[in-house]
Amino acid sequence: MRILFAAPAPLWDEWAPALRAACPEMELCRDGDPAGFDALIYAPGYPQDGTALDFAPFTRARLVQSLWAGVERIVTNPTLTQPLCRMVDPGLAQGMVEYCTGWALRAHLGMDRQLQDGIWRGGQAPPLAAGRGVTVLGMGELGRAVAAALAGLGFRVAGWSRSGRPVPGLQVLAGDALPQALNRAEILVCLLPDTAETRDLLDAERLALLPPGATIINAGRGTLIDDAALLAALGRDPAAHAVLDVFRTEPLPPGHPFWAHPRITVTPHVAAATRPASAAPVVARNLRRAMRGEPLLHLVDRTRGY
Ligand code: NAP
Repeated sequence: MRILFAAPAPLWDEWAPALRAACPEMELCRDGDPAGFDALIYAPGYPQDGTALDFAPFTRARLVQSLWAGVERIVTNPTLTQPLCRMVDPGLAQGMVEYCTGWALRAHLGMDRQLQDGIWRGGQAPPLAAGRGVTVLGMGELGRAVAAALAGLGFRVAGWSRSGRPVPGLQVLAGDALPQALNRAEILVCLLPDTAETRDLLDAERLALLPPGATIINAGRGTLIDDAALLAALGRDPAAHAVLDVFRTEPLPPGHPFWAHPRITVTPHVAAATRPASAAPVVARNLRRAMRGEPLLHLVDRTRGY
């Protein structure tokens, strides 16, 4: 089986050893005749000239395996007719759990108010986690893992998803219950994909449904939140905060108002990385399934866009 590593060149050195170790029976290539490849391992940024990859000449390919969980940059490619699978990887989920629980605890404990400046600020201790409502928007692979971790810390967690698919031990609200999901969210964790339905979902009207002083943690996609509406909402609520890992334009442009805002924390799309050590075995498993004609794992639904 011949596999094209269709990813930006700097990723080759990082991925090739892990992929070769995970599937030694396959021939991993950096280039060659498209008609000769049985599958592609894809990451955004390929080809490096900025054009969209033309999948049409890959006539033999039985699988396009994305190294990214978010597939918005490839799922709309009209030349892509081959099955597309997204990345679901235990390392990715663990990274997202660590990122979201870390920032959620910072908000919950009010760490930013505890700066050591020589002033003894007596007063109330923060509530225990059980006194704090957390909502997770998006209860997929990542949202479920984060919701379970936050519930494990004692937070009052509810999830929200398109289908409201049940998750054992957690309350999951569906589609129309978004106002209810926002109303209870002292901490709002956003782990939604970028689709036509999720774009600008958090507009001025919906942001206004959050309780005063809420913290938004967005590690899904930047298109979810209307930037201007977020700035306006933070302007009205001096205790509110946003931790943003993802943006409409990445890298976030130097003059963007998010950089200088005292209650916006910018992180550079680092919440969860796909790490070769844990992800290469996942890729190998799917390549073997493709080779044997078995059902593929983590197949993207083109109509839903995720
Ligand atoms: P996933 O398993 O596909 O889950 C997506 C979740 O979003 C599902 O629960 C889905 O609902 C829900 N959803 C989709 N459209 C919706 C809508 N219109 N209304 C309500 N809910 C909707 O995805 P995942 O693996 O958890 O990843 C989530 C996203 O995280 C990725 O798409 C990617 O953009 C982002 N991400 C970011 C980083 C980072 O470093 N910042 C790293 C990895 C991934 P159903 O359950 O009903 O289908």
